[in-house]
Order: sequence, then C-alpha cells, then structure tokens
Amino acid sequence: KTKKVIAVDELYEEIIGGSRLHLSKGITLLESMRPTDKIAGQELLRRLLPKTGNSIRIGITGVPGAGKSTFIEAFGLRLAEQGHKVAVLAIDPSSTVTGGSILGDKTRMEVLARHQRAFIRPSPSSGTLGGVHKKTRETMLLCEAAGYDIILVETVGVGQSETVVRGMVDFFMLLVLTGAGDELQGMKKGIMELADSIIVHKADGDNLKLAKKTVREYKQLLHFLQPATPGWMSNSIPVSSLQNTGFEEVWETINVFKEKMESNGIWHGRRQAQTKDWFHSMIRDRLIDNFFSEQGMKEQVADLEKQLLTGEATVASAVDRILPARGHTD
Ligand code: GDP
Repeated sequence: KTKKVIAVDELYEEIIGGSRLHLSKGITLLESMRPTDKIAGQELLRRLLPKTGNSIRIGITGVPGAGKSTFIEAFGLRLAEQGHKVAVLAIDPSSTVTGGSILGDKTRMEVLARHQRAFIRPSPSSGTLGGVHKKTRETMLLCEAAGYDIILVETVGVGQSETVVRGMVDFFMLLVLTGAGDELQGMKKGIMELADSIIVHKADGDNLKLAKKTVREYKQLLHFLQPATPGWMSNSIPVSSLQNTGFEEVWETINVFKEKMESNGIWHGRRQAQTKDWFHSMIRDRLIDNFFSEQGMKEQVADLEKQLLTGEATVASAVDRILPARGHTD
C-alpha cells in the first residue's frame, strides 16, 4: 500500500515537471481496471485537478480519409513550433461499424510524435464508447496538468462519437471534402450543427477551385442551421495540410471564438455544464454496472426475456419484477 502512495507522489511531481513518460504512465493508471490502480489513479487526478483547465480543447472529426491525421499533424506541428504544447488524443471509438481498428493499422503523426512539445496518446481500441469517453476526459485533464495548452481530440466520424467529443471540448471542427453536391445532401444536418467550423480539406492542386466553391456553399448553408455555440456564427475554411495553407485562418478563428466566448460567459458555462453531464453519465454507468453485476441478475434477465417472447409477461411487468419502482411499496 505504501508503495502505491509513493508511486502517486512520483507521478504527480514528474507529470507537472513535464515528463511525457510519466504522463503516459499516469494515463495508463487511469485506464486500468484494477481496483488498487483505480484508487491510485483517482488520487493522482484529485491532486492534479488544481492544475487543470488551462487549455483550449479542440475536437476534430471527419470520415475516414478526410485527412484528420494529416491535418492534426500539420496543425499541431505549426502550433508546437510557435511555442505551444500540443496534446493529441486520438480516439478510436471501437464502433461496430469500423470494428475499431482504424488506428491500429498505420503509424500516424510520426513527425509530430517526435516533437519536443507534442504528446500523442492513441486510445485503446477495446472497450465501449462510454468507456473511451470517460478516460478521454481524464486524459485531457492530465495533459493540462502537464502543461499542454492545446488539446486536440480526434474522433472518427461514424456517428455517436461526434456527440460524445462535442460534449468535452470548447471548439469543434468538422473536416469535409469537396464535391459539396453529394456531400451536402449525404451529410447529416445534425453533425454540421455540432461544428463551430467546417474545414474543407485538401484544398490544393486541381481541387482548389472546387474547394473554394464548396466553402461558399457551406457558408450559405450554415446560415440556416442551428448554431453549434450560442452567439457564434460557424464558418467554413479551405485548408490544405499538404501545402500548409489555411491554418492561419483556422487558428485565428479559434482565438476569436475563445475571446468572444470568454467575454460572454459561454466558455466557462459550457465547461461547467460538461462537468455536470460527465458526473451524471458516470452515475448512470455505475448504476448499470452495479445492477448487472448483482448475483444472478444475468440469469434473471435472460429468464424474463424468454417470458416476454412467449407472452407470459409484459415489458413493464418484467422490469418491475427485477427493478421495483421506488415509492410504490412501503
Ligand atoms: P484520416 O483517415 O481522416 O486520418 O485521413 P489521413 O490523414 O490518413 O489522409 C487520407 C489521405 O488523404 C492520405 O492519402 C493523405 O495523404 C491525403 N491527404 C491528407 N491531407 C491532404 C491534403 O491537404 N491535400 C491532399 N491533396 N491530400 C491530403
């Protein structure tokens, strides 16, 4: 037990001292399912908490092939060169759609990974979307305590994960490609309404002209959508990560956004609301875990499922039997 206490002390000192190795170890501790690790991880987080919050949290989404990793590497390098400390949390949502191995099969962001002021953490491909969600938040806090002032959270655009990431960042970007005609029709309005900025990516070479046209179309369209952030008119920017163009406008946009949202209170308010939501979703996770890990519960549920299918029980009565509603009986 004493050993653990020492480990947390050391991790704490090394993490705030900027050791990337210890930051990695701290994150691994938080991701661990072992009860003793969980306690140590939470102790570490509790101690680091006063040092968190001082970053711009940026979410980046787009379909596979949109160029997310190329964009993040180029953008991240640029910011690191300017003196920022950049942490990249690459999320693999392990969705049923992708099988969750998008990150596993290629080495991504190698150049950025070697930069002194960059830290890249690909999330494990196992586990549920909810599990990744919880760990990603805590990972973000650890990176902030380690002095990273820019956190880039990547998500593969395959559905639910966008909403999860939107719920943990300050600014959310959607990477799209040209061919707006199909793209605009095929894209879910819901996802566009999450974006503070729509990046029309690969705006280079033969594609440049079309990219600019696509940007104009998105700008028009954005006027008719719900704003992702109250008081902010989402914009559209052409970017080429291969030619390093458009990044200045992206960074400028993020800074104007931050300034505006800090002065109208939205920045702080959103972070508080996110923390509350996180708390509530952890309560729900815990309740569900506890419920299903009760002695004999899985068997009981399976048994009731059968009764439902044979018509012996209604759904509501089956639920009542395993989970009596509060206040109905003395
Ligand atoms: P991800 O799946 O969204 O992470 O996409 P990648 O970053 O792996 O990029 C997919 C492909 O698009 C790769 O072949 C990249 O070389 C290419 N790509 C990425 N960014 C650009 C860009 O700015 N311009 C052009 N022309 N190609 C790009």
